[in-house]
Amino acid sequence: MKSTIKSILLAAALFPVSYLQAATVIHAGNAFTGTDDKLTGPVSLIIENDTIREIRKGHIKVAKDDTLIDLSDSVVLPGLMDMHVHLSSQQSGTSSYLKRFTLNEADYALAAAHYANKTLMAGFTTVRNLGDSYNETVSLRNAINQGMATGPRIYTAAKSLATTGGHADPSNGMAKRIRPDTGPAAGVINGVAEARQAVRQRYQDGADAIKITATGGVLSVAKSGQNPQFMNDELDAVVATAKDYGMTVAVHAHGKEGMIRAIKAGVTSIEHGTYMDEEVMTLMKKHDTYYVPTILAGEFVAEKAKIDGYFPDIVRPKAAAIGPLIQATFGKAYKNGVNIAFGTDSGVSAHGDNGQEFGLMVEAGMPPAKAIQAATINAATMLGIDDKLGTLEAGKFADIVAVKGNPLQDITTLENVQFVMKGGKIYKQ
Ligand SMILES: [Zn+2]
Repeated sequence: MKSTIKSILLAAALFPVSYLQAATVIHAGNAFTGTDDKLTGPVSLIIENDTIREIRKGHIKVAKDDTLIDLSDSVVLPGLMDMHVHLSSQQSGTSSYLKRFTLNEADYALAAAHYANKTLMAGFTTVRNLGDSYNETVSLRNAINQGMATGPRIYTAAKSLATTGGHADPSNGMAKRIRPDTGPAAGVINGVAEARQAVRQRYQDGADAIKITATGGVLSVAKSGQNPQFMNDELDAVVATAKDYGMTVAVHAHGKEGMIRAIKAGVTSIEHGTYMDEEVMTLMKKHDTYYVPTILAGEFVAEKAKIDGYFPDIVRPKAAAIGPLIQATFGKAYKNGVNIAFGTDSGVSAHGDNGQEFGLMVEAGMPPAKAIQAATINAATMLGIDDKLGTLEAGKFADIVAVKGNPLQDITTLENVQFVMKGGKIYKQ
């Protein structure tokens, strides 16, 4: 027995890749591992099952049982991570608002499966879904994890939490006679008890995180895009309850007062953050709050607000006023040292266009390497999964994408991801 093991080890040692099991080897022309802000030069990534076993300098010889993937003309990076998507829908102007009356649960679920596939093909191997309608992204997450659907790793908040008439109240804009009964289960809370109940309901529904709408929003059928919509005691109740269940809290916010209340309550991230000023930024640094900018969504709605009839009359002025401001806010927040995680709000802009956010970040003054880290290691750290994802390192999941061209010189190469591997499995080549 002892000598058998010895001879196996000896035989293994003679192979170029000294593993007993057949491996997949990627010959990469260059790699951005995310552990620093440089490219490595040519490397070989040795992948066993769903994990990166080792990364070696140069292009190693490949044993006969191993599979070689030749990306010697490409730059490999960690799988990209978008921390703000809505997989179950996509904006189509005024007609979007009719879908609440015409679509069934299954329609949302099937749309989500379609958009999840598009997102993965764009190189995004992990997403955080911040708001759905019928917990369809919980089902989708489970289906993807079981191999029954194709898409990124999903961390979902299920249905967002709003206050009555607030951004994400599903009954906004409806005539009173057809307005559905809302409440904590439907994601509408008023007061501390309902805030707790709604968070516990999300836990029961299978959510991974909590999303609240702490201020007005652009696309809701409501007047203000920025007024505070949660009281301090409601925010405290959401955060404390989420903490009990191991869930982080993402906060939609445009206005300053709503942001300040949420940050002080101890939320995990501020989404959009349009009217954030230096006072808010200082507070975010003090409380380790992440900023998820979604510049792409701002640009998208600002553009569409120019078209007559695209948005309902009550939405159009909000889109025109708030949309164009996000990019400048982001630039200031980056210079101010606020911790940034990449997010697009895709579902406002088209799914699969997520990579366009990078160009907007770089245009606003963030170096390309930092923008990529915002979409990899920073996102992974915010989700608390940086032990397994977010960089190319031995022991982490083999979530690997590749582009032609150097993204540190031309960030728009990330709009054209050529190769996608998630958990050691190739989805695009
Ligand atoms: Zn959103």
